[in-house]
Amino acid sequence: MSVREEYRVITSLTNDTIKSVRALHMRKERDLTGTFLAEGLKFIGEALDQGRAPKMLLVGEDARPHPLLDRAKTETRKAGGDIIIVTHAILEKISRRDNPQTVLGVFEQAYAPLDSLNPASAPCWVALEQVRDPGNLGTIIRTADAAGCGGVILIGDCVDPYSVEAVRATMGSVFAVSITKTTPEAFVAWRQSWPGSVVGTRLDATVSHRSAVMQKPSLILMGNEQAGLTDQLAAACDVNVKIPMRGRADSLNLAIATGIMVYAATDEA
Ligand code: SAM
Repeated sequence: MSVREEYRVITSLTNDTIKSVRALHMRKERDLTGTFLAEGLKFIGEALDQGRAPKMLLVGEDARPHPLLDRAKTETRKAGGDIIIVTHAILEKISRRDNPQTVLGVFEQAYAPLDSLNPASAPCWVALEQVRDPGNLGTIIRTADAAGCGGVILIGDCVDPYSVEAVRATMGSVFAVSITKTTPEAFVAWRQSWPGSVVGTRLDATVSHRSAVMQKPSLILMGNEQAGLTDQLAAACDVNVKIPMRGRADSLNLAIATGIMVYAATDEA
């Protein structure tokens, strides 16, 4: 049986299902549906490995056969999701790219409530205050995954971790890292029972990140790209540290600084 016979096929750009998938570029639609878009077989494989089958699998009519694609179809169907064959033009429209991935998935968003987190389950956790750049957030989620962090906590008004740009920057780690949303007030109250060190990062700190005592599990607080870490959150930390700046740059990029901090906090040496 050919692919076209076996699955629903959509060729019209104005089809309602295609319109609803394209709308996932907008935060309002993602918030409303609690879903997001992930592009490419690598992402879909990461999702399946975490037991997260897509609600909808969109497969380009020119997609090459691949064992992972077969697995994705089987698991999507088993989980009651839709499998739809689409044209290259539809994939281009959805992804807003000339060279789109040939397989896309629509997935349920997942957030771990603050009080469900188990600090002792990992040596390091990351908390971000009002992160605004989706590329930074995606890169931080990827880095937190690579460094073996327990999760990423978003404090205050942050960019959506499930935006298409943020998800792309995670390279699939969006499925592996627990993500939590909270307010500054709830975070400050919750942090009181943190069993290890709570470490803030500030350009005006006098302690170097290398000389600070970081008792595991470390909870690393990073500030907003423009304003930095607020006084309210800096005051909630056991120590505030600075990564030495040796040249003329007055600060590091947020994602780079986070990488330096989480590897310093998880180093065994
Ligand atoms: N103008 C902002 C300020 O005064 O904090 C710069 C913010 S910086 C681009 C974004 C975040 O990256 C900071 O809030 C901090 O968490 C982290 N960061 C950047 N450079 C750092 C450094 N040298 N030491 C410690 N943290 C740093």
